Amino acid sequence: MDHFSFRNGVLYAEDVPMPVIAEQVGTPVYVYSAATFRRHARVFREALSGLSRVHLAYAVKANPNLAVLRLMANEGYGADVVSGGEMTRALAAGMPADAIVFSGVGKTHAELAAALDAGIGQFNLELEEEGEVLARLAHARGRRAPAVLRVNPDVDAGTHAKISTGRKQNKFGVPIADAAAMFDRLAKLDGLNLRGVALHIGSQLADLAPLEAAFGRIGDFVRTLRAAGHRIDRVDLGGGLGVPYREGELLPTPADYGAMVARATAGWDVELMFEPGRVIAGNAGVLLTRVIWNKPGEPNPYVIVDAAMNDLARPALYDAWHDFVAVEPTGERITANIAGPICESGDTFAMGRDIDAVRSGDLAVFRTAGAYGATMASTYNSRALVPEVLVDGDRFAVVADRVEPAALIAAERVPDWL
Ligand SMILES: *Cc1c(COP(=O)(O)O)cnc(C)c1O
Repeated sequence: MDHFSFRNGVLYAEDVPMPVIAEQVGTPVYVYSAATFRRHARVFREALSGLSRVHLAYAVKANPNLAVLRLMANEGYGADVVSGGEMTRALAAGMPADAIVFSGVGKTHAELAAALDAGIGQFNLELEEEGEVLARLAHARGRRAPAVLRVNPDVDAGTHAKISTGRKQNKFGVPIADAAAMFDRLAKLDGLNLRGVALHIGSQLADLAPLEAAFGRIGDFVRTLRAAGHRIDRVDLGGGLGVPYREGELLPTPADYGAMVARATAGWDVELMFEPGRVIAGNAGVLLTRVIWNKPGEPNPYVIVDAAMNDLARPALYDAWHDFVAVEPTGERITANIAGPICESGDTFAMGRDIDAVRSGDLAVFRTAGAYGATMASTYNSRALVPEVLVDGDRFAVVADRVEPAALIAAERVPDWL
């Protein structure tokens, strides 16, 4: 459920009409609903209320805007970060360091050191050498780094290949067959407090069965580790829950997920950690755009909008679907392709789709753009970096400026030998 709805034929974000935002901020622009973020944060927490010890770490990469992170911190969420930059953001937004989990397959030595110095609550180790380096860095500081070992359970998450992370050929985690021996070796290091395991098998999961299978393997692994004498008090179950991208699409709900987790983890006696990203942010944002042209074409006309693949990369990257809805629909429908201005045929949001009829100058939104939207934006074709707006009731604020090409050019240099 979200708070983008029609009143008197005009699309609103909460109590703010979209045309007011377009008028004041320009287009394209991401528009987020604070009430929707809060609602999703609470629904997810509620879904896990049957579990005894839970830590919620919002996956920053889904939507790292500072205002969004502040909102999530206010909801009592910590953060899952995958770079030093994301850690800096989470801290800047007011998340307590010990509520931050540091994931990622390529943490540099400098990032590990900075995270230790910041007092990050958990390092999710992706390979043995990383554990050894972290142990050395921590030992040199007279510390023991809190860590878990990320295991690759080798299950097919059944999602798009580019966002699937839990098969053995993926770059993430250590093979479950090697993990027990590795855990033994790492647990002996002075600089580590190795206290559990982690997994994350992919994103936009439309089916809970692969997750349940993976959790089953992790449960077996925890029993193996305990039998070998290890103290296991944390299991990080990652993120991955999918969201509906098409009107009417049905996906497992957070409540379904919570019930499955309760079943799959019964008797584990650990603190369970969760790293939800998309399920919190996805339907809390839209990308507001203006139609530039209606271009005749065969077999279908093109609707050329002022948003492009540099603003919303998901369709070009993953063939992702985003519903396209006119801000002031007339009721008339057309079949059209929707594309941006970028000089690549990949800059196409939809082909041959049945959509609201729109004319040049009309406003429309791409829905479900709150996750993996603005965070992936670039300035390709020397376009401005897309701005972001947060709506809360009847007020709104620009929470990320439009960065104009002139500002980007100002950060470049022509050497004096040219
Ligand atoms: C991306 C990611 C997440 C979040 O995934 P969602 O599908 O957005 O919930 C969680 N944990 C890790 C380690 C990730 O890489």
